[in-house]
Amino acid sequence: MRNLVALVACSFVISTASANDPPNTAPSAAKPVVESVKAASAPAKPVYVPRLSPAAQRAQDEQAEADLAAKIAERLAAMRANQAARVVAASKARKAAEAKRKKAEQTPVVRNGTHWSYEGEQGPANWVNINSEWGKCGTGKRQSPINIRDGMKVDLEPIAFDYKPSSFSVIDNGHTIQVSMAGGNYLTVQNRAFELVEFHFHRPSEERINGKGFEMVVHLAHKDIDGQLAMLALLLERGKQQDLIQTVWNNLPLEKNLPVNPALLLDMNELLPQKREYFTYMGSMTTPPCSEDVLWLVMKQPVQASPAQMALFSRLYPFNARPIQASAGRVIKESN
Ligand SMILES: [Zn+2]
Repeated sequence: MRNLVALVACSFVISTASANDPPNTAPSAAKPVVESVKAASAPAKPVYVPRLSPAAQRAQDEQAEADLAAKIAERLAAMRANQAARVVAASKARKAAEAKRKKAEQTPVVRNGTHWSYEGEQGPANWVNINSEWGKCGTGKRQSPINIRDGMKVDLEPIAFDYKPSSFSVIDNGHTIQVSMAGGNYLTVQNRAFELVEFHFHRPSEERINGKGFEMVVHLAHKDIDGQLAMLALLLERGKQQDLIQTVWNNLPLEKNLPVNPALLLDMNELLPQKREYFTYMGSMTTPPCSEDVLWLVMKQPVQASPAQMALFSRLYPFNARPIQASAGRVIKESN
């Protein structure tokens, strides 16, 4: 009977210990059980006189010990199986969490913002973060505007202008005043014809010539039949009133994004400078999405506009110019 008490006590200690053990120590926890069973059975000697014969009593005790040992073994096996299952489940959960984290890392976050500005959180340095399609604004290597200097002076072919009086509409798109032109106005350069789509204004000028900025600039966006852009830049300096700009100002919209369609024609020839020398280089749009492969044609001679005309634009857009971008060794050519 004492054997039995010792065995029960022993099994209680073992099962408590093995239940608290970390999973990887389970096999060693099993070991002492067998030893303990042996140790417990070795010195056993009954101290009272059993009712049964000594042989029968011994047989009964042995049977009880054997039964209990079997139960303990069974219990331990079940605990080990549970622990093994917990280890497998924990490992699976860890792997699943890891796989989820890796997938999240690999899947690019799709951004589809459209609102941008020239200053603050949505300013030029953050354009790249606003929309996933605007990557070039941050990583492009041929961006505009640039400081135009060290141009290669060569005999650049003259730009052939084929502009004619055309109808137009004026819109305040929230970034500038933009004038959309009816079709039929072309410039030809490098044996390619580009059709004028629209023109718009920046203050101050985005481009600089040998470090010098100008009070404003007009960008005339042209597209060829393949959709390639040619951007003609006309620098504006203070001087006499410019009639074509006055016609645009006279027809400024009262509200943003609400176009005005005057019953008038614009003759873009009136805006061109007298001298037609120019700088040329490959760059980009200066607003999102900052697409590259834009052929820039920057006229050397500034066009004059009156201080009152400049002041009027500055009331709407005091500052709408992208900062200078790295020219990164690009070839710049200029008329001799
Ligand atoms: Zn522009």
